[in-house]
Amino acid sequence: MILCECGEFIETDIFRDYMKTSLNPSTRTVGHRNCGLMINFVDEKRPKRYSSRKELKMLACKFAQKNLPVENTAQFLLAVERFKSQGRLQDLEILMNAYHEVLKKCCENKKELSFHDTL
Ligand SMILES: [Zn+2]
Repeated sequence: MILCECGEFIETDIFRDYMKTSLNPSTRTVGHRNCGLMINFVDEKRPKRYSSRKELKMLACKFAQKNLPVENTAQFLLAVERFKSQGRLQDLEILMNAYHEVLKKCCENKKELSFHDTL
């Protein structure tokens, strides 16, 4: 899975196109339909894997806007900060770890709520 620079995961919403790379002036590639970014697999001009703290925060904000409910954004950003401080995790790993952590907490809360509802 590829995390696009726009903060979305690129899965099925891709377009196919050709772009100029060091290998070939028209190399087959894919792009992200939602934002139009084309990915250069040949020259590894993919979204940066290790962003600075500031860049990561911007990416995390965009990611949260697209993938998380507003009420979980702050929690998610804190988790991102924490994973970043832990050391050399890749951007994607940091975002995924934080994302899963927040989702897990959401589900736990929901389970608790529905548990109380049934009492
Ligand atoms: Zn994109």
